Parts: sequence; C-alpha cells; structure tokens
Amino acid sequence: MENSLKRYGVDRWGGETVGVNDAGHLQFRAPKQPAVDLHELALFLEKRGIRTPFVVRFPSMIHGQMERLKRAFDAAIKENAFVGDYAGVFPIKVNQRRAVIEAVTSAPRELGYGLEAGSKPELLLAMSREPHPTAPMLINGFKDREFMRMAYHAAELGHHVIVIIESIREVVRFLEVGREHAWHKTPDLGLRAKLYTKGSGRWQGSGGETSKFGLTTNEILEVVRRLREGDRLERLVLLHFHIGSQITRIKRIKQAVREGARLYSALQAYAPQLRYLDLGGGLGVDYDGSRTSYPSSANYTIEEYASQVVYEIASVIEETEARPPIIVTESGRALVANHAVCITDLREVQGELLPIPDKHEDEHRLIEALRETLEHINAKNYEEYFHDAIDFRDEALELFSTGYLTIEDRASAEGLFQRVRIKTTKILEQLSRPSEEITEYVSTAHHKYLANFSIFQSLPDTWSIDHVFPAAPLSRHGERPTLMTQIVDITCDSDGCVNTFAHPEENLRFLPLHEQLDKSERYFLGFFMTGAYQDSLANDHNLFSRTHEIVVRGADAPPALPGVERIGFGEVSLDLKIGATNEDTLAAMGFDVESMLHEVRNRHRVAETTLGESWALGLLQSYPYLTRE
Ligand SMILES: *Cc1c(COP(=O)(O)O)cnc(C)c1O
Repeated sequence: MENSLKRYGVDRWGGETVGVNDAGHLQFRAPKQPAVDLHELALFLEKRGIRTPFVVRFPSMIHGQMERLKRAFDAAIKENAFVGDYAGVFPIKVNQRRAVIEAVTSAPRELGYGLEAGSKPELLLAMSREPHPTAPMLINGFKDREFMRMAYHAAELGHHVIVIIESIREVVRFLEVGREHAWHKTPDLGLRAKLYTKGSGRWQGSGGETSKFGLTTNEILEVVRRLREGDRLERLVLLHFHIGSQITRIKRIKQAVREGARLYSALQAYAPQLRYLDLGGGLGVDYDGSRTSYPSSANYTIEEYASQVVYEIASVIEETEARPPIIVTESGRALVANHAVCITDLREVQGELLPIPDKHEDEHRLIEALRETLEHINAKNYEEYFHDAIDFRDEALELFSTGYLTIEDRASAEGLFQRVRIKTTKILEQLSRPSEEITEYVSTAHHKYLANFSIFQSLPDTWSIDHVFPAAPLSRHGERPTLMTQIVDITCDSDGCVNTFAHPEENLRFLPLHEQLDKSERYFLGFFMTGAYQDSLANDHNLFSRTHEIVVRGADAPPALPGVERIGFGEVSLDLKIGATNEDTLAAMGFDVESMLHEVRNRHRVAETTLGESWALGLLQSYPYLTRE
C-alpha cells in the first residue's frame, strides 16, 4: 500500500491528511476529527440515493489552515523581534459557498480573520455578519457610487471598513458619497499600488507595470493630494499590492514585499495614519507535492512564507525608521484549497475488445496482412512490424473512404490493429530499452475511463487554464493498477477530459487505474484540493449543474443550516445539500418549467402513450446528472 501511495504521490501532496487504511481505501483525516474512509462514505451516500458526483468538504481543514497561517506569522514576528502585528483576511471570491464562509467566520475570534469583498453581493455577505472586534473588512474591485455607499453603510454598522482605492475616480466618489449624508462613521482607505515586481507562475500578469490593477506612483501622490484637499487624509491607513495568485517562487514574493515595504515607509511621511501593509494573496499551494517552482507547486511552505515576509518588512522598517505596520495577507487559495474533495465514479472502459470475424476466403489482402503481423510480431521485429501495421491500417481506412473496402473489413482492420497495439504494449513492457517512439504511440492511445461528472462544473480550471489537481482511486490500494488511463467526462465536449494529474516527480499524463473485472463493484475516483476557485468558476456547460455537497462535521458541529439534512456516519455527521435538479437548471436558463411540464402532459395525450404521466414527470425531477443505469 505504501507503493500505491507513492504511485499517486499521495504520500507527498496528501501530507498528514490523506492516507490509506487496512482495507486499501483512502481516508481523510481533518484536524480534530476521526479519519473518514472516503470509499465507504461514497458507498454509504449511494445507498441513500446520493449519487456521484459530489463535493465533500471538511471545514475543520479551513480552521486548521487559518490557524497554521496565523501561528506562522506570530512565530515569524517573534523570531524577527518585529514590533508590528499581523491580521489575516479571507478574500470571498476564492469560495463563496455558504459552508466555506461559515467556516471562515466561525473560526476562533482570536485568530483575527476578516473578510475581503470585491463586489456588491460579496460585500452584502460580509456586512450582514457580526462585526469583528479587531479584523478589518477590506473592499476591493471596481467601485461605483452604490458600491461606495454600501461601504459607508457597512462602516455605520460597526465594521472596520477599509476601502481600497484603485483609481483617482474612486477617491472622487469616496469624497462625494461622504458629503451625501451626515454619516456618523467614515470608512478608512487603502491604496492599491502597482508594483514593478511581477509574480511568478501562471498569474504573473497580475503584477508588474503592465498589470490591470493598481495606482502608479504619480497616481498615489495625486490621491494623497485629493484626500488632503477633501480633508480626509487621516483616513488613509493601508497600502496594498497583489502580484498574482499561486506565486511559485519565494524570491518573487520577497522582492515584491521589499518594494512594497519601501513604498509604505515613504508614504508614511504623507499619510500619518498609515499603519497596514497588505500583501494581497498569492501564497501558493503545493498541489503536486513537489515543493518546487513548478506551476502546480510552490518552492516554500506557509512557515517559510511568513518568516521571509516578516524578515523583509522588518529589515526595511529598521533602515527607514518608519512605524512598523500591521501586516495583512489576503491568502485565499492556501486557506481553502485542501478542504474539498471531488468524488466521481468510473463507469466503463472505452475501447473494449470485441470479437472480430474469423479469417475467410475473400478477405481483403490488407486484412490478411494485419493478421500475419499480429501473429508474427515479437521483441526482435516489433519496430518494423508495428510500423507496417500502422501502414496497413491507414491504407485500409483510405480504401474504405474511396469505396474499395466493405464496412465489415473496416471493422476487422480496426480490431486487428487494436490487438497488434496490445501485443506491442506487452512486448515493450518486457524490454529494458524500449523504442521511445513506439512507447509514445501506444501510450497516447491508452484506455479511457468515463467519469460521471463534468469538468466544466467540478474542475473548471483544468479546462480553462490547464491547472493540475492530484487524483487517486478511493479503493484497491492493495492492488497494482494495470491500466494507464485518461479520464473523460460525460459532457459532449471534446475538451471534457483530464490529461494531466499532479505528481511530485513528474505530473502524470495518464492515471494508473485498476481494471474493473467485476462490473458490479464500485470504483470511485477522488480529485483532491479542489476547494479554491473551482466552486465559484463552475459553469453549467451541457446543463450539468451544481453537484451535491457533503459537509463533514465533527463533535463540535454547529446547528445544521436551513435546507441541509444532517445524518450520522460513523463518528462524524454529514450535512447534505442536494445539487441542482434538472428543473433548477432549466429555470436558471430562463425556461418556464411549469409550461414545459404542461407541454409534456399535452404530448402524452396526443401521442397516446401508455406510460403514466407521473412516470414521465419523475424523469424531470431526477438529480443533477441523469444516471446512466
Ligand atoms: C484573488 C485575490 C486574492 C486571493 O489570492 P490567492 O492567491 O487565492 O491567495 C487576494 N487579493 C486580491 C486582491 C485578489 O484579487
């Protein structure tokens, strides 16, 4: 079983959290909770009619990460004898699901996390909560007049609001809205600076001089002038920058922090109340377990991040003799990525070997040639014979297109070639130095497993930006997998497949999986670390909509939310939120489901079907993915 964990990289990306039990099943051990057997969990849910795909959330992972980041900064502050402080803020855009937001806001208050909102609904979500006694509420994004009013309103409600100014126009709006009412409280202000330092990794365009966001130095000085004129300079308390998400190199972070700390120190001469330095997000997640600067990893830990960041700030502050800031981070990905697992099940292997017709009299010469090749190919001649087989197959397909080959012969050509490929694969496995070219050829034509989910809904980043997630089967870790597979989803889109899987050594182009000899046995697949951005970017392509959600609660579970069913599972309880029904999905596209049902009823009469209406309507009420059984 240890080998199996290595095979999938679980021993590295799974850390202390994902392991294997005696049954050969993967288990998830969230902080302060008993281990949960994911395979048994999936079977248990299926028995209750909750079919894959579903997302399983472990909110205690979020608390664990929040605590880890806070402790890391506390330790770094102590280690550097830094006299400033630290405050974490969770950016809502990373995951707006209620279970996630509740997890963040229910964390112990002494951890001191606030929320960051980037749109009106996000702000409404933040301001409707009880104000945090110490943590700031940050407001980012483009702010029109209504948004600015909401910010003033939130301040009135007792939140420590800091509006982060991204353009001169926003300062004007801030001052104008301030004059609209006799507000009792005025929000504080921050500035988003455009840094010269770029991030690293996929999102490096978010930083640097060409970035979409942030004020240039001239604009910063202009904002200061306007605020002084408007008699609001004392509101300016924070300097912010954000150089992108998933920064893979610690060096880039250090450079940015150094530049930002300099800017902070210099700006203090203009803005006497300046006391927060907000480093934005970007803290990387080690999706593949390699701890390298690879795009699916980061070459530092949370502790190293905190330690380096505090060190850089402390040394700039010592040099410039500026007032030490409260360091703010807006890490989102690092707090929530590993709390969620997407579970699907594998249905069938495509490309099954079907029997082919026996040799017969008037068989085409190409079919005969393919039979000969299949019979005589061996370790000595496989390079020549395999190329021949490709030629015969291609020629046969060509002849079919021009009308010289029957459909039966075309079927035989395909079937024989498939067998040659399988035999070649077996030969390659026995060779110490197999031909690279042929290995490449046979591997790209490997098995496909059909997974009952839509990547557009469950792993949208694999499709849109080639992000890689770790994946592993939930059972059979005591057995050696025999198939190298690609995962295809049930959408009708040719992009609906997963071609890369995170792995510490080299990301895998094919996932090793077990053959399903016993077709009645359930074989589930987990995609891990899907808790950041995937829920919010999920789309309804092909009308495969929101999946079921299962939240795993320990003994300290808060009361279940409305619309959520709670059931016991071993030592934990599960909060079930059913995914979108077909009706929900159609309604979201603007269809009037009532009148559609009416039409269906009418058709029943016209078509004189003997099927009952209730049977037909039952079809429309089935859960998000029409099951294939
Ligand atoms: C998206 C975003 C974040 C979160 O970034 P992560 O890389 O997920 O930590 C933080 N701050 C701002 C301004 C953002 O736009």
